[in-house]
Amino acid sequence: MALRFFNTYSREIEEFEPGDLSGRPIRMYTCGPTVYSRAHIGNFRAYIFEDLLQRHLELRGYKVHRVMNITDVEDKTIRGAREAGIPLQKFTEQFKEAFFEDAHTLRIKRADEYPAATDQRYIDRMIEMISALISKGLAYQADDKSVYFRINKFPDYGKLAHFDLTQLQSTGRVKHDEYDKEHIGDFALWKAWDEADGDVKWASPWGPGRPGWHIECSAMSMALLGDQIDIHCGGVDNIFPHHEAEIAQSEGVTGKTFVRYWLHCAHLLVDGQKMAKSLGNFYTVPDVLAKGYTGRELRYALLRVHYRVPLNFTWEGMNEARESLGRIDEWLARLKQIATNGNAQHPTPNAQRPTAAFEEALDDDLNISAALGFLFESIRQTNRAMDQKEMDAASASAWLDWWKRINTLLDLEADTDVAIPHEVEQLAQQREKARREKNWKRSDELRERISALGWEVRDTKDGPKLTRGAGTA
Ligand SMILES: [Zn+2]
Repeated sequence: MALRFFNTYSREIEEFEPGDLSGRPIRMYTCGPTVYSRAHIGNFRAYIFEDLLQRHLELRGYKVHRVMNITDVEDKTIRGAREAGIPLQKFTEQFKEAFFEDAHTLRIKRADEYPAATDQRYIDRMIEMISALISKGLAYQADDKSVYFRINKFPDYGKLAHFDLTQLQSTGRVKHDEYDKEHIGDFALWKAWDEADGDVKWASPWGPGRPGWHIECSAMSMALLGDQIDIHCGGVDNIFPHHEAEIAQSEGVTGKTFVRYWLHCAHLLVDGQKMAKSLGNFYTVPDVLAKGYTGRELRYALLRVHYRVPLNFTWEGMNEARESLGRIDEWLARLKQIATNGNAQHPTPNAQRPTAAFEEALDDDLNISAALGFLFESIRQTNRAMDQKEMDAASASAWLDWWKRINTLLDLEADTDVAIPHEVEQLAQQREKARREKNWKRSDELRERISALGWEVRDTKDGPKLTRGAGTA
């Protein structure tokens, strides 16, 4: 079955036809973090969606070249550095590091390149593009010395967001700093230096200043992926004005279609509300880990809902994630045992075998909810077969092979490189003894002691199993 994606540009599900790929990979650009504070879990929802998309394309045999930019100069980074009283680069460096640390915790595959906007070679590229736009009449320098894109000269402006430009016009010029522009919707390509910028400035034909946020992505994308790219992703809040502006800038310069498929990830809500620091429901990855959850559990919680559906993050949802992963762990442990020893006392010739349903669900606009539904239905059925001793070693191996393949997408297997500490093992044995003696109080106490050591004991049909639990990533 062919891959299909919902293209924001056409607002339709389209078959994925990247054209002639001989000698080249899929070109994928994903808008990265603005490093003025630690990214929140809503940002990471989008990065996990992009991770799943890349992994699925690779499973389907495509090679992917993915670029994720780091926005390290714009209004918020400059303000943050000024308030902290440190140079811009020093200020942004800490959040860059935090971003990579969190991405690693969430098992997000690294992009091939992470260009930073302040790299002189991209600043040069931005200046080159702005000059080209000016010479084509698509940009102008205003009285405030800043350079703006002239949206009235780009008829397609608004097409990605399905935005009516006349609405934009009717709002009139409201803000003081908008007076210099020809049209309220004209956006800055180059922002003239002012005192508040401190020593953050670069020389340009229009005087000292710094690039606008939108041109950064157009320039880095063109520098690393060429004039035309296959897939561009981001969160829905990037659609307007950021991605609309990227199209206008890139196509304004090249005259070619900038992006073939636009994919956008829906919002993350917390307890049904928009996440906001003022509401006290704003969480970073370390905030979630501090509550005793693992990176693997958070990955699952952020991954499990279809990317175009808003995801409601709750602590109950985190517990469900833990439970779901526990089911997968137990299932794999049973399969491994049977694959080695076999348990088929009554092997059934038509025992359920893995099918392609999981992958086909992902072909359908990355429908992870349906794919996971299929996974858990398979777990339920094969567990029943194992309970009834109907699973032979070959079938168990086939399921393990299937898991290995789909886990290249999910990346949800428990860390196996961690040995169970002797102390934890002993406590688990004591607890098992207490349970056999039906001393529930002692059994619960021992469970808590095990949990305090960062481990979790689960009672399965094959006896107690220890997994890394609270407080470990
Ligand atoms: Zn961008």
